[in-house]
Amino acid sequence: MTVGVLVKWLEERAPLRYQESYDNSGLLVGDSEMRITGVLCALDTNEEVLREAVARGCNVVLSHHPIIFKGLKRLTGSSVAERTVAFALRNDIALYAGHTNWDSISGGVSFSLARRLKIINPKVMMPRSKELLQLVVYVPTDFALQVTDAAFSAGAGKLSNYDECHFASEGTGTFRPLEGSNPFSGTYGIREVAREQRLEFVVPSALKSRVRDAVWQAHPYEEVAHSWISLDNSWSDLGYGAVGDLSEPVRLGDFIARAAKHLGADSVRYSTADLNRMVCRIAVCGGSGAEFISAAAATGADVYVTGDAKYHGFQDTPSGIVLVDVGHYESEQPFIEDWAEAIRSEFVTFAVLISGSDNRPVRTYLNHG
Ligand SMILES: [Zn+2]
Repeated sequence: MTVGVLVKWLEERAPLRYQESYDNSGLLVGDSEMRITGVLCALDTNEEVLREAVARGCNVVLSHHPIIFKGLKRLTGSSVAERTVAFALRNDIALYAGHTNWDSISGGVSFSLARRLKIINPKVMMPRSKELLQLVVYVPTDFALQVTDAAFSAGAGKLSNYDECHFASEGTGTFRPLEGSNPFSGTYGIREVAREQRLEFVVPSALKSRVRDAVWQAHPYEEVAHSWISLDNSWSDLGYGAVGDLSEPVRLGDFIARAAKHLGADSVRYSTADLNRMVCRIAVCGGSGAEFISAAAATGADVYVTGDAKYHGFQDTPSGIVLVDVGHYESEQPFIEDWAEAIRSEFVTFAVLISGSDNRPVRTYLNHG
């Protein structure tokens, strides 16, 4: 098993094109031909994590935060990033980061947080638009099923909890084969009339070439009549945050206590004096998501759980919603556990471990008086 196979699998789930323009997800150090001896998953990469990887027989480190983020201009060991990258190169360790692309997908970072908080059937909190295409393709009726199956197997027609979605309408198509053509049916110079179906599919932009290849392969015509149409629709499977309901309303104070316990947070900060209010609808965003509180409030959430909230963020919390800051690390660590589990259940030829190094950059002093 090579690094390249793992990278392909990761990026089929969370394509790099879903990351923010400032981000640097993907394979940062290493060779995709390298054979994997073991994978160590951690929220952050540093020398301690890499030493742990060596000790535990792993030559791939997967992290959420990219160690090379703003660009490296030298490798003299003058920063954590420089030392970490140099260590990785010296020890033949591949570094891979899955950052804002995994923050953006349904089932990514915020969904792991939602699961720990016992949110039922969470949905993307801020669905992104301009990521979907509509493929319209015309196919002779006898081949409609074959083309439809090919499109579905390449990932077309999936929306939220439904797949194999499409629309088909029957009609008449015409074409006239000209010199140089090699038509599937018809005679040179004579207009051919054919029973055809117009098939329509929704296709994520990231899957355009895969769907195109599959459909064109299954289609009998030399020239496939088709159109790709950019959709303005928001896409329920892509975007920051997750929102859903608890199985029953609970006291805010109990919800916060439970969140602290399940996330291993030393302390939790929140924006109300009223711990007795009942809450049920919970929005979450792993990492530094306080700026999205208006989007959280717009979903009707009673509580918004995230990390890195600032003083004025607490102060300006919209009425009707409580801002709960569980910590950046604590809100994202559940994803590392789920990420490792997902890779483990897919690949059996190497071990997938979770870093045991205590890498929390922020510690809390608990004042017991
Ligand atoms: Zn983060």
